Amino acid sequence: LAQAHSSPNPPPATFSFEFFVPKTSQGVQNLYDRMDRMYDLNPIFIDITWNAGGRSSSLTNDMVYTAQSTLGLETCMHLTCTNMKVELIDEALQKAYASGCENILALRGDPPLDGSESTGDFKYAKDLIAYIRKNYGDHFNIGVAAYPEGHPEEDLDDLILEYLKEKCDVGADFIITQMFYDADNFILWCDRLRKIGITIPIIPGIMPISTYAAFMRRAKWSEIAIPQHFLDALEPIKDDDFAVRQKGTELVSEMCQKLIDSGHIKHLHFYTMNLERSTIMVLERLNLIEPAKSHEIVGGAELPWRKSL
Ligand code: FAD
Repeated sequence: LAQAHSSPNPPPATFSFEFFVPKTSQGVQNLYDRMDRMYDLNPIFIDITWNAGGRSSSLTNDMVYTAQSTLGLETCMHLTCTNMKVELIDEALQKAYASGCENILALRGDPPLDGSESTGDFKYAKDLIAYIRKNYGDHFNIGVAAYPEGHPEEDLDDLILEYLKEKCDVGADFIITQMFYDADNFILWCDRLRKIGITIPIIPGIMPISTYAAFMRRAKWSEIAIPQHFLDALEPIKDDDFAVRQKGTELVSEMCQKLIDSGHIKHLHFYTMNLERSTIMVLERLNLIEPAKSHEIVGGAELPWRKSL
């Protein structure tokens, strides 16, 4: 960070893409094609989600293998521990290891939908992180989830930060956040993390805006605030998808630029929702890729959690 402030021309921000596991085999094939195309944008890494409880876990492992070994994308595998016995965790980690994957986003996962207690061997994400560190040493770079606007299961802000610090202390290398649209709140939150001694890279989760309905639904589902100027700009054009996408690109790009200018952020992580257009529009507007004809990267190529940064 000190370097970022003192350097007259800090390197352009880098970026990465999240994909979720599709429900059908045709969906998987379509996603491979999309990942192959998005490879040309030169993301620093991509990540693949894990369905809590282990549903379709072998598909996550297969996709990690294809992305890492066949498509040649630096890949991060999400792994949740809700309802997961240690044997299943080991199986997933060993398959990731064998695929050449070196990055795990270690998560608890949402509790079972029926309200029952998790039957897994790990209670919190921090227990999973400690287990991975103990058994795999430094092979995996370990990421953790964080919530700049709070987590639905915990009301006390200070406690949430304390729990995040615990995850860092047991061995996390980087943080990826929940989506948000309030840049000012996010920057203050980063200040608080630094004040309590969290020093690892903070990677903001960015959700581009494709349609008004999806924008509102996702914000509600994630329990995040929508700044008034987003509503003022989008509400009057809500029935025009093309206009919403254009204006949404402008708003999200401004937000990203503000994060970068704060000095806290060197890397942007995009929730692609397995689509490419809205993410590409934001990257183009931020000048992190060349406009459509050639998608050559302008930024650097270091993993955001590489120790030398
Ligand atoms: P934890 O850090 O373990 O926290 C869970 C809850 O317990 C929080 O309320 C926390 O405050 C509390 N807590 C933590 N430690 C303690 C303690 N010591 N004592 C008491 N309370 C404590 N879900 C999926 O199913 N699959 C995915 O692929 C996935 N990817 C995600 C990616 C990102 C970037 C993010 C932000 C979330 C993702 N999620 C995913 C959702 C995530 O699994 C849920 O939000 C889940 O409820 C919390 O997971 P966690 O790893 O943050 O849990």
